[in-house]
Amino acid sequence: PATLGVMGGGQLGRMFVQAAQAMGFSTAVLDPDADSPAGLISHHHIRCAYDDPKGLAQLARCSDAITTEFENVPAPALASLAALRPVAPGAASVAIAQDRAAEKAHFERCAADNDGVRPAPHASIDSPEQLAAVAAELLPGILKTARLGYDGKGQARVKDRAELAAAWDRLGRVPCVLERLLPLRAECSVIVARGADDQCVSFPVQKNTHRDGILAVTEVYDGAIDPALARRAQAATMAIARQLGYVGVLCVEYFLVDDGRGGLDLVVNEMAPRPHNSGHYTQNACDVSQFEAQVRAVAGLPLRAPVQHSPAIMLNLLGDLWFAPNARHAQASDTPVTPPWDEVLALPGTHLHLYGKASARPGRKMGHLNITGPTVAAVRDTAAKALALLGLPPL
Ligand code: ATP
Ligand code: MG
Ligand code: MG
Repeated sequence: PATLGVMGGGQLGRMFVQAAQAMGFSTAVLDPDADSPAGLISHHHIRCAYDDPKGLAQLARCSDAITTEFENVPAPALASLAALRPVAPGAASVAIAQDRAAEKAHFERCAADNDGVRPAPHASIDSPEQLAAVAAELLPGILKTARLGYDGKGQARVKDRAELAAAWDRLGRVPCVLERLLPLRAECSVIVARGADDQCVSFPVQKNTHRDGILAVTEVYDGAIDPALARRAQAATMAIARQLGYVGVLCVEYFLVDDGRGGLDLVVNEMAPRPHNSGHYTQNACDVSQFEAQVRAVAGLPLRAPVQHSPAIMLNLLGDLWFAPNARHAQASDTPVTPPWDEVLALPGTHLHLYGKASARPGRKMGHLNITGPTVAAVRDTAAKALALLGLPPL
């Protein structure tokens, strides 16, 4: 029985470990945190920093193949592992995904092959000279740190040059990318899995709603996204993966914007070199989950085109819920209160996933609720009831 290793021990690693174990693999997790959600359930938990040479050597020794769940794993660590074991995705792909400027340059390179799907107009801000030379068409805009941002952290919306300069100061004058603020009509994302044999399969296209920069709801069913746009987004994502020589699971996020002709156009936002929060619905609504696809890609097993067997809605469960002043189950309080899972689970087609995190904190991803059902109307109805029980805004 082979062992699959994973760099990072968060909830994505935990769900990878669960999928790997379901298929009979042993697992090894490298993560510094004693209570990491994946480390807690893995056969091996190597507790060390992501760049610790001894820990990396130990991970390589006990693993037959290695993947990552955490996009900020140092690319050199992946490169050193790759000298010893198959590693997917590779260091070069991860390094591009870690840097918004490199990522956007890759998207630009792919545009010709991509039916013209491009990133938003943007510029790198690495120096006071670049700051001063910013084109007027990029304002109002969003200034994003090139590295380490997630869930809307490390970003500032800026109206004019004065706000831009102040925001760059506030972000610590680190390398940034300024993007034009686009009027978004909607957002979607696509997950593909690609094998070392270049075989590539795509999951259905997810429609995503964000709140305060964090994914709140994902909807995947007929009618959520225009089918022609969905096909275009899937083809663009496959091209982006192919041109990276990518192996593993990749998620690419898109904006839907007015095309000026009464329709919608696609703008590519960013990619994640791993399974993605927007792909969690696959656990209960598809015949292969994004985590099983990751296991297959990493272990060199065949990839099959996933089939969605139910309309799906995923609700993200953030730590705020445990303190929700407007939910029926809790008063505003400093002590976390468990949300009413018994009432939620009494609704048809609800699947609760909690990540085993020790404590709830506002903004912390604690789990998600997948909702499946026989029809779109049934799934939407259950989602509406679950949202009301949890005191969350309606769809
Ligand atoms: P993630 O947690 O998905 O990695 P992130 O912190 O890397 O998020 P982005 O995905 O770049 O950040 O942006 C977060 C959200 O902010 C987007 O999903 C979108 O709602 C909004 N946003 C980002 N860039 C733009 C833009 N150029 N125009 C309009 N809205 C934008
Ligand atoms: Mg991001
Ligand atoms: Mg994003």
